Amino acid sequence: MRFFAIGGYNEVGKNMSAVEVNGEVVICDMGVQVDKLIEIEGGGDEYRKTSTHKLVQLGVLPDDKVLHGKKVVAIVIGHAHLDHCDAVPRLAERYRCPIIGTPYTCEVIKRVVRDEDVPHIRKHVQPLNAGEVAVLSRNFEVELVNMTHSIPQSALVALHTSEGTVVYLNDYKLDNTPTLGEKPDYKRIKELGKNGVKILVIESVRAGEPGHTPSEMVAKVMVKDTLRKAYEQRRGLVVASTFASHIARLKAIIESNKGERKIAMLGRSLMEYVEPAREMRLLETDEIVIMAKKRRGVAAALEKISRSKDDWLVITTGHQGEPKAVLSRMARQEHAFKFGKDDQVIFSSDVVPVPINMANRSELQRLLKNQGVRIFDGVHVSGHAKREDDRDMIRMLQPEMIFPSHGDKEKLLALASLAEEEGYKIGHTVRVLHNGAIVDR
Ligand SMILES: [Zn+2]
Ligand SMILES: [Zn+2]
Repeated sequence: MRFFAIGGYNEVGKNMSAVEVNGEVVICDMGVQVDKLIEIEGGGDEYRKTSTHKLVQLGVLPDDKVLHGKKVVAIVIGHAHLDHCDAVPRLAERYRCPIIGTPYTCEVIKRVVRDEDVPHIRKHVQPLNAGEVAVLSRNFEVELVNMTHSIPQSALVALHTSEGTVVYLNDYKLDNTPTLGEKPDYKRIKELGKNGVKILVIESVRAGEPGHTPSEMVAKVMVKDTLRKAYEQRRGLVVASTFASHIARLKAIIESNKGERKIAMLGRSLMEYVEPAREMRLLETDEIVIMAKKRRGVAAALEKISRSKDDWLVITTGHQGEPKAVLSRMARQEHAFKFGKDDQVIFSSDVVPVPINMANRSELQRLLKNQGVRIFDGVHVSGHAKREDDRDMIRMLQPEMIFPSHGDKEKLLALASLAEEEGYKIGHTVRVLHNGAIVDR
């Protein structure tokens, strides 16, 4: 068996790994480096105009050259976050193989490839339910196991090969009271461990943080509590901003409104995730009066809302301060809309700690404060496992070998030190890899 660490081993982003057995390859994830993407997109349509080759050089896309010419039998996507699936339109075509994920993941990928003008890739997209196994080739079967994270239908990927099982676990949290979907399939995870796991690839995003990541149920209570507090004032507009893909959080915001205000949902990226969620009945949207994704629709909606601000809850994108997002445009008064001192903004997110986001977000906050807006920040719990969650996972799966992933060296080493506490040896049974590393087992 040969393992390829392709992306996500030097950084948080552009996740991509591959496993080769007897001349056949399965790819796990094809993501982009989201912060670099934002840097490029800050200049308008730059991303579309930039060649794939150049985007690889810039570090926006993973460098998959090592796989060119190989017999790839499938691309498996663990969940629909951009750092796991958004490179599909650029990189998947050359492999001409099935692209497999849970039904929600597949729906988002279909939209992504449509937006990027490569709709023919759609015919390769094949949904597989969590709890099911698909035979890919002589050497590979893929199994998706239900997992919790911060987007619907996240999966642990188990690749059963003629040379043993590889578990690919990017990303996850252990949420025992999820507000959308089922809790992790512990029974199956333990069975996998009992049957033998040769390699575990595991995210390390918060492996350095002690304890356990609180359930999304905790975030739901925080959202409800904060929204009630904002509504006590009875005047002015209330805006709530969260991750477009965080359907459970959007559900919490909508449910906490309890019909008290009219809801408007504004922003293109929001709709990319909300529309499939609505179609698949993961999110009830009857209470939403206005849904606008195009610039003109958003402008018209804001004009209407500004005439009776006290009646509205606006759910929108832009919590990272992205200059092109609706909230930033509102703050810059680009539409026929002005914030005032009765208005309130709830950030149901944390700032992704990379320089571009921190700079964008502080600029947004400055603009909002200058206009007298009251801000509620950090109404959020993470979607990533912390140290004691990772420990439980290692104990359940008992892998022969661990490859920490989804981080820079510091994060990978944090997971490696945890593995060491669990009896693994750095350099032998736990390996800190870098992009481009190849391991033979
Ligand atoms: Zn990720
Ligand atoms: Zn994720």
